[in-house]
Amino acid sequence: MLSIKDLKANIEDKEILKGINLEVKPGEVHAIMGPNGSGKSTLASVLAGREEYEVTGGEVLFNGKDILDYSPEDRAREGVFLAFQYPVEIPGVSTTNFMKTALNQVREYRGEEPLNAVEFLKVMKEKMELVEISQSLLNRSLNEGFSGGEKKRNEIFQMAMLEPKLSILDETDSGLDIDALRIVANGVNKLKSEDNATIVVTHYQRLLDYIVPDYVHVLYNGRIVKSGTKELALELEERGYDWIKEEVDSTL
Ligand code: ADP
Ligand code: MG
Ligand code: MG
Repeated sequence: MLSIKDLKANIEDKEILKGINLEVKPGEVHAIMGPNGSGKSTLASVLAGREEYEVTGGEVLFNGKDILDYSPEDRAREGVFLAFQYPVEIPGVSTTNFMKTALNQVREYRGEEPLNAVEFLKVMKEKMELVEISQSLLNRSLNEGFSGGEKKRNEIFQMAMLEPKLSILDETDSGLDIDALRIVANGVNKLKSEDNATIVVTHYQRLLDYIVPDYVHVLYNGRIVKSGTKELALELEERGYDWIKEEVDSTL
């Protein structure tokens, strides 16, 4: 599904990603961890197509197509979901209306008929129950005055509605409490299927107490320096990152 080959990227002429290789197959959940400043958010942003980052080499194949030339919108239409690419706040536009537009855009791109109001409400109700979001939250303006937990719930709801093939979640907000982590984890677990895949970029060991990833990767100094299963996450929890840094630095 996703094949990242020797991906290199700069920000302001400084090389941050120094050759990332990653293969993600349908049905898999991958966690990307690593010390602060190692390039995790840069990787998520480059996959999202954010313009501040200059890709200097490599390729990102999504179902065989190199999506590096695609706009963020076209990536989304292809089925790539990036929680943080959505607008921070839209006063006066309810989450429901925003979602209806977003979903019908995606459906149009996939060659599917737009949903009418009745059909949309039916899908919405189903997904609301799945991710346990309340009608009152959906009636409010998108993200306006949302708490950290409400924003997370809304992101997971968007993910449930759009049924992306690949979701990339960058859990960067250090202010998130344990409830918000649980919302993200429950959502990822419930939405997991044989047809979709998730990459969770996380600074939190604790998130992986709730999400069981199939693979765990450690990003350090712009490269994936170690990959393993969930046991690797447990080892990191116990031993931290210093042993990995030493292993890598001693081979330089
Ligand atoms: P992580 O998410 O793993 O903590 P980041 O991808 O945020 O790491 O950052 C990787 C490196 O890129 C850091 O050294 C950081 O200072 C630098 N960096 C990230 N964003 C910017 C930016 N907008 N301008 C300048 N440097 C940046
Ligand atoms: Mg950081
Ligand atoms: Mg980060």
